[in-house]
Amino acid sequence: MKSHKLLMIPGPIEFDPAVLAAMSVPTSSHTDVAFIHTFGEALEKMRTVFQSPNGQPFIVAGSGTFAMDVAAANLVEAGDAVLLLNIGYFSERFGEILERYGAKVTQIKSPIGARPDLQQVEEELKKGNYKALFFSHVDTSSGVLNDVPSLARLAQQYGALCVVDGVCSVAAEELRMDEWGVDVALTGSQKALGVPPGLALWMVSQRALEVRRQRKTPLANYYGDWLKWLPVMQAHEARQFDYFATPAINLIRSLNVSLSQITEEGMENRYARHRAMSHAFKAAMTALELDQIPVSEEVAAHTLTAVRYPQGIQASDFLPRVAQEGVIISGGLLPPIKHEYFRVGHMGNITFGDLIGTVSAIEKAFSALGYPFSAGSGVAAAQRAYQERTTA
Ligand SMILES: *Cc1c(COP(=O)(O)O)cnc(C)c1O
Repeated sequence: MKSHKLLMIPGPIEFDPAVLAAMSVPTSSHTDVAFIHTFGEALEKMRTVFQSPNGQPFIVAGSGTFAMDVAAANLVEAGDAVLLLNIGYFSERFGEILERYGAKVTQIKSPIGARPDLQQVEEELKKGNYKALFFSHVDTSSGVLNDVPSLARLAQQYGALCVVDGVCSVAAEELRMDEWGVDVALTGSQKALGVPPGLALWMVSQRALEVRRQRKTPLANYYGDWLKWLPVMQAHEARQFDYFATPAINLIRSLNVSLSQITEEGMENRYARHRAMSHAFKAAMTALELDQIPVSEEVAAHTLTAVRYPQGIQASDFLPRVAQEGVIISGGLLPPIKHEYFRVGHMGNITFGDLIGTVSAIEKAFSALGYPFSAGSGVAAAQRAYQERTTA
């Protein structure tokens, strides 16, 4: 085992040593030429990661919630009708944020483990005259994956902006912003981007920027105003200095290292690797005869797995046992079933060995707690499933 416990939660994740090392270099001035280049490079690479050559990237100190907050603040004016697809905890959060800015929010709430029915979304969009459609790509509380291309197409068809909370998806799940017509995709550094917590990142289409510019009412937010940051992002991408508020210099250095690793791996390879890891982990849970929260493999995310406990196993016994084996995993998050399931994150630069070590720690904890299963069956199933995917 490593000197630290393996962090297999849906963010923060395990960080690459080179990414961590980049943070510990003495902080330069934000006007330093080398830093301006680093910032500019990171913005450029964001276009590759979000697959949005025509969008406008932003990198600002904050967490994922901050990126959600400013997306709502910039796009919503009091009284605007917006449609929110609610698949779990972070969708609820987006609803609260939208209401804070005075939006008239209509929700389509899916049963636990399910994603919205496209026909129902279309019927609602048809009658509602909505300014924007908001949804999570992956809801981290349920492990459910939304069908982004179909939803973005519907939003476009009915003249609504498409805003995607990609905090648990960007840089791991397939996302083709420009091709699919997504107007805003946002994330935080500590999830699949693989950088310590502290940065909010978002990409905005020209159409959404124009909606911000055309606001009729003033924006009741200063630090999060897209138009305050826009000249700073444009300047740095052109390798020039501009200032609005001090950037998180060390984190941006670290981000640039991680984005280099991601773009060197290539987005297609990265999606495929996350699918393979997810397939292997889910196969292990199935071999242990455990059910998952998502109602089918098709609607399940590839960045995490949400697994129901077997009868008689308590979260308060299980999670510390797994930690004793050197692996940190998460409990449940959806209020009605919070104590009935656990979550394992498998995103970023984890190795297959990390994944197998996690399955093994879970098996050991179950066996210590008296859950009957054939020892090693989860590990064997993960091996088989991973080989199927990687040698095909
Ligand atoms: C983690 C997460 C958030 C919140 O991000 P913070 O960085 O904790 O503010 C929002 N949405 C989703 C889908 C997430 O996974």
